[in-house]
Amino acid sequence: MTETVTAPETTESVAEFAARARAWLAENMPRIDPDNPPFSVRADQQSWDRAKELQQRLYAGGFAGICFPREYGGLGLDFAYQKAFNDECRCYEMPLILNTPSFTICAATILDVGSEQQKRDRISAAIRGDEILVQLLSEPSGGSDLAGVITRADRKDDKWIINGAKTWSTSAFAGDYGLMLARTDWTVPKHQGLTMFLVPLNAPGITMRRIKEVNGNEEFCEEFFDGLELGDDAVVGDVNDGWTVASRQLHHERRAVGGGSEFASGTGAENANEMPPDHVRLAELTGQGDDARVQDLAGRALVRRLVKKQLIDHVGAAIANGSLPPNAGTLIRLFHAETTELEVDTALAIAGTAGVVDEGGELAGMLDIGVRYLSRQTGSLGGGSSEMARNVIGERVLGFPREFAADRGVPFNEVKRGRS
Ligand SMILES: Cc1cc2nc3c(=O)[nH]c(=O)nc-3n(C[C@H](O)[C@H](O)[C@H](O)COP(=O)(O)OP(=O)(O)OC[C@H]3O[C@@H](n4cnc5c(N)ncnc54)[C@H](O)[C@@H]3O)c2cc1C
Repeated sequence: MTETVTAPETTESVAEFAARARAWLAENMPRIDPDNPPFSVRADQQSWDRAKELQQRLYAGGFAGICFPREYGGLGLDFAYQKAFNDECRCYEMPLILNTPSFTICAATILDVGSEQQKRDRISAAIRGDEILVQLLSEPSGGSDLAGVITRADRKDDKWIINGAKTWSTSAFAGDYGLMLARTDWTVPKHQGLTMFLVPLNAPGITMRRIKEVNGNEEFCEEFFDGLELGDDAVVGDVNDGWTVASRQLHHERRAVGGGSEFASGTGAENANEMPPDHVRLAELTGQGDDARVQDLAGRALVRRLVKKQLIDHVGAAIANGSLPPNAGTLIRLFHAETTELEVDTALAIAGTAGVVDEGGELAGMLDIGVRYLSRQTGSLGGGSSEMARNVIGERVLGFPREFAADRGVPFNEVKRGRS
């Protein structure tokens, strides 16, 4: 473990910073072809070990945590510096899998609402490349109704005793700490009885299992808590004010998923599924390069990608200048999910049977499209489903009336659940 060193205050312009980064990257980071990068496999521990190693290099070189405050190990610079760094590091291997959820969601939330000690300990350790942070929110009983969690934290003497289960925790097997939402008061309406905890994932009382997905990946985990003991120092924010913390987390998640977080370093595709399918090449390989219908399909997908890029800049700037509320980050997240689905659907439509049957030769490579199709909807679920995103846009951005909820204002222990 390295010691956290407070970076000196920067007096450099963005251009000077970028020039210094350019020289440092060339000397210190492995060069890659940005159009053909070495992808990380989130399900493999070695990808995480590699990411930590790269992060440690960035930290040693003074280019880690660009937008995090200096007192917590960052550089205390604004987004313009991070964007300039992102431009410079395109051709170098970066620890991209540390961005989300570790930096863009968990560390960002701790920065907003964590205790001074949590900021000094956890944010610094993540920036140094020593620790990974994950999210433990969704439960087997459902994830959309996050305020309805039933994992419980009961007070016993000076400890909190946690019992319950969480699921769909991205990369938790590689994590060190998780932000975990639990119910601490069952006698008040659902949003008022929650508390967020920062849980050390190797603590006794936690059983973690990997989940096998339909595409064969094992990136997600489920955790079972049986009498896990936590102290008051694990509480993030205030007791029974966990909804405030969870709301910050969701806010950061929406921005991160849409690609608009200043806490993400590097912008390349993290894995092969994030690379836009090459529709033109697919059309040529399948002998449809001159087909007007196929050209139309490919053109639509390309235009959507270009609009997405513009939307990220536009919404980001509008939130920053106050002309759109912070919840408008949901627009980016929704458009991102829909763009991904359109791109993969278009690829499969062009590939046809070669996307699902091995047709040999160059067409054999198209089987990836079929596998990718199986997970094309992850963007419409992770970070809240697209239906929930539309609810947020309707209610929080456009100001429509809130949808009916039978449990609004009702003490949680009186809310009907399941077959009760
Ligand atoms: C890639 C990915 C990464 C994830 N990472 C994590 C993680 O790290 N940590 C974590 O805790 N969870 C994670 N999740 C879980 C994710 O947060 C949940 O899948 C999501 O919140 C939806 O919950 P659910 O799957 O339980 O669906 P449910 O809540 O059971 O919903 C089922 C369906 O009903 C719809 N629905 C529900 N309520 C409403 C409503 N009020 N209005 C309209 N439609 C509604 C939903 O949109 C959905 O289509 C991840 C999921 C994915 C796909």
